[in-house]
Order: sequence, then C-alpha cells, then structure tokens
Amino acid sequence: MNLLEDLRIKYQNNEEVFDELSDCSVRLYPEKDSCVVCNKKTKLLKTSSKECYSFRFGKFRLTEGFFFCQDHKYMSENSDRILRYYSRLAIEIVDRGYRITIDMVARVGLLRYRDNRQLEEIQSFLKCSPAKIDLPVSTIGLVAKRFLGYCKLLHEKYQFKIKDDINSNSGYAAHFDGTTEKMSGAINFVVMDSLTGHILISEMIETESYKNVTSLLRKVKFRYGNPLATISDLKPGFLSASGDSFDKVPTNFVIFIF
Ligand SMILES: [Zn+2]
Repeated sequence: MNLLEDLRIKYQNNEEVFDELSDCSVRLYPEKDSCVVCNKKTKLLKTSSKECYSFRFGKFRLTEGFFFCQDHKYMSENSDRILRYYSRLAIEIVDRGYRITIDMVARVGLLRYRDNRQLEEIQSFLKCSPAKIDLPVSTIGLVAKRFLGYCKLLHEKYQFKIKDDINSNSGYAAHFDGTTEKMSGAINFVVMDSLTGHILISEMIETESYKNVTSLLRKVKFRYGNPLATISDLKPGFLSASGDSFDKVPTNFVIFIF
C-alpha cells in the first residue's frame, strides 16, 4: 500500500493515471489459517466488501475474507454464533462498521482540534489533497468526534503515566475552570494539573453548580489523591466545592480573571 501512496503523489497531476489508481481493491484474509481448537486448516466462510476513504491511499475497496473451522463452527454447543476468523490488519486500517480509515480520522482530528480548522476548511483541504476525497461536512464533523473519542481512550489508557508524573512532583495542583461556547447550553469543565500540564478531567456539565463541580472534583481526588493546592477563580460555589471535595488542602490560591 505504500507503493500505492507513492504512485498517487507522483501522478496527482496526471488525471488519467491518478484515476486508475483510485478505486483500487484491497483483499485481506485472516493472518492465520488454522483453528484455535484443533489447529486444522480453516476454510472461507464468506467475504464482505466496502468502499473506504483513506487520506494516504484515497478511496479504495476493502474486501475481507472470513474463515471458519468445519468441526468447530460455533462459539459453543448452545450458541448459533459462528466462530469467525478475520484479518486483524483490516480492523487496524478501518474499524468494524466504519468506512473512514484510522489515518483519515487522525488527519481530520488534528486539523480540527490542533490546527483549529473549521469543517468547511477541512472539506476543501481533503478535496485538494492527493487523496482527493470529497466528504460531506456532516461526515467530517462525525469523524472529528470519533477522533476525540479515541483521544479520550488513549488518555484513560495512559492514566498510570500521568500518575507517575504527578508522583515525581510529589503531588499536583488542581487548576479548574469551566469554559463554554455562546448558546451551546453546556459547559466544558476542566481540571488541569498546572505542575505537569496534564488534564486530569474534562467533562461537559449543564451548570457550574456546587453539586456538579463537587462530583467532578471528587472524581479527580479518587483518581489522583488530594492535591497540593487548588487554583480557580471566584465563581460562586467554587471555593466551597473545592473545600468540601478535597481534605485539608494547605493553600487555596485564587487567581482573579477579569
Ligand atoms: Zn477446529
């Protein structure tokens, strides 16, 4: 597939060759062709095919082959679910049930959230790129949201590393505040450790009520322990929410934001 990418970049000004490189077909079968129970060679059960959109490879058709073992066809004796063997590479390229490949999700997500591009700008960018992918704005919005979902999972997966960083500073400073976009009707409440710069929690809440803020601060305490200090502005309820969520925080630095 890397060869395909090179060819696409090389021939992007030659419409004829470029078009031939579009809509290529990729077939993927399970990496292993033996049954996990009896080790006998598995057989083809069925194939399924879908159009996929990748930033690196453009539009292509992914055909996947699923294998099965004749002697161990079902998950269990009482189950009618077939024990299917599938290609792990296929899942790595594009998640089950989706058509936008992982590389495209990452590209769209970075354009949206790292480079602060609007959805329409991303749409034009993809159209003009070697991939020449024309996606509706609504799809690009959903893809950007999927990227956020993956980021959240990654953040949770590496919580232990955040804890290591906090421990190396002998604790953390809970810097918290809410931010909102006009008319959105929701507030993104963020707690950041201002010593390491790690985001400790980021959740949407309807209002910055004592109850909502306390519940999030308590989550932070449950995950990372008691902070060395808390830092916030003087919104109503912040100080008491902080005092009631954390025990005996030695200093309450308050920054006035005008
Ligand atoms: Zn078998």
